[in-house]
Amino acid sequence: MNTAGSSAWTAALSETPNSAINRFIQANLLVPFSPSTPEALTQGLASIYGVVQLKAMLKLRRLKVSGKKDELIARLVHSDGQGLIRDVLALGLYQCSDAGMNLVFRLEERKQRAYANAVAAIHAKDYSAAIREYEALEDDLGFPKFGFEGTPRPALIQLVMTVTPTILDGCSHEVLSRLRIAMALQCVAGRHAPKDVLRGFNTGIRLDAETAARMIYFSARHAEDIQQWKQMKVTEVAHLATPGSCSACTAFNGQKWNIDQAPELPYPHCTSETGCRCLYLPVRDA
Ligand SMILES: [Zn+2]
Repeated sequence: MNTAGSSAWTAALSETPNSAINRFIQANLLVPFSPSTPEALTQGLASIYGVVQLKAMLKLRRLKVSGKKDELIARLVHSDGQGLIRDVLALGLYQCSDAGMNLVFRLEERKQRAYANAVAAIHAKDYSAAIREYEALEDDLGFPKFGFEGTPRPALIQLVMTVTPTILDGCSHEVLSRLRIAMALQCVAGRHAPKDVLRGFNTGIRLDAETAARMIYFSARHAEDIQQWKQMKVTEVAHLATPGSCSACTAFNGQKWNIDQAPELPYPHCTSETGCRCLYLPVRDA
C-alpha cells in the first residue's frame, strides 16, 4: 500500500491498516481465501485477475485465449482447477468470513435503525436521544471510540435547528428545514452519517446543498462561540479570513470588532462558491 493511502487509512481507522487486518484475522472476521468449490474458484479468479492476466494464464497452459472474461475463467477452471487453486493459495489472500459478512450485515441494519430513530428524535427536539442512537450503535458492535471526532453536544444541535444565517436568504422554509435536519444528523452520526441525504437537493440559491448545510453549522458554531466569550467577559473579537476567502471576506482579515458589533458570520456578502469560512477569535485584554 502506498504511503499516502496508508496514512489516510491510519487516520480513518485510528490504527495502521496492518494492525487492523491482524485484529480482523484474530477476530476470525477475515479468513484465508481457500476456494473449496469450482464456483468459489470461479468467483475468486474473477475478482483477483483481469482479462490480460487471464489470457496470459491460458497461454501458459496452451489454451485458447479468445472469449469474454467469464469464458476465459471457465476454460481455465475446467482445464486446471487444482493448479489454479495452488496459485490462488500462494497469493496468501484473505476473504471476509461468514462472521465478518454477518457483522457487516448487522452494522448496515443497525445504521438504518439508528438513522430512522435519530431523525425521529431530531424532529421531536430530543437531541440527546438522537446522539444516544449512534452511541449505542458503536457500543453494541464494539467499535473503538474515535477521540478526534469529539462528542456531539445537544446544545449545538439545538442551535443548528434554530439559527437562520442571512447568507441563506432566499432559501424557503422547507429547504432550511431539510438542511437543518441533514446537518443535525451529521453532528449526531459523525462518520456513520449517511453520505447522500442532500445529493441533488436544490437549495434555490447560489450555494449547493452541502455548502448551505455547512453555513448552518458555521452559524451555530459562531453563535455558540460568541455566547461563551460573552460569559467569559471577552469584549473584542478579531476577524480571521481563511486563505482562499473571497475579497469581501479577505478585506476584513485581522479587523477587530467590539463583540456586540461584529458582523454576522458566515459573512452574508461572502461571494465564495464554497461559502464563508471566516472565524472570530477572542481578543484577550493586554
Ligand atoms: Zn467569510
